[in-house]
Amino acid sequence: MACDIATLMQVLQSGDPDEQMQTLDACSAVLIDPTLWYWLIGFTIVCALVGALIGKYKNAVVRDTLLGVALGPLGWLISLLLPKSAPKPSCRACGKSLEAGDRYCRHCGAALSP
Ligand SMILES: [Zn+2]
Repeated sequence: MACDIATLMQVLQSGDPDEQMQTLDACSAVLIDPTLWYWLIGFTIVCALVGALIGKYKNAVVRDTLLGVALGPLGWLISLLLPKSAPKPSCRACGKSLEAGDRYCRHCGAALSP
């Protein structure tokens, strides 16, 4: 028994409980099929990687990776349309990244000029 809209409508209208259970089993089997999940997981990973690539260009890797995972190709489009973030400033003494408003480097303690 197949799990498609036409079969579902036909079985629902027939009112036969045995036929309804068979159709329910067929539809459950489709959801349990590992092939479906492999494709879904693979697609999610590809969406995350493309989002991360866009994020690398836009200086917002985490934001764009999450957009890619959550929204797929629509997330890529949103990432591309969002403005490019300014790169984070880095410490002149040790070269590590700084947060906005820091007066001293969190890594080496060097004083930062405003
Ligand atoms: Zn430093």
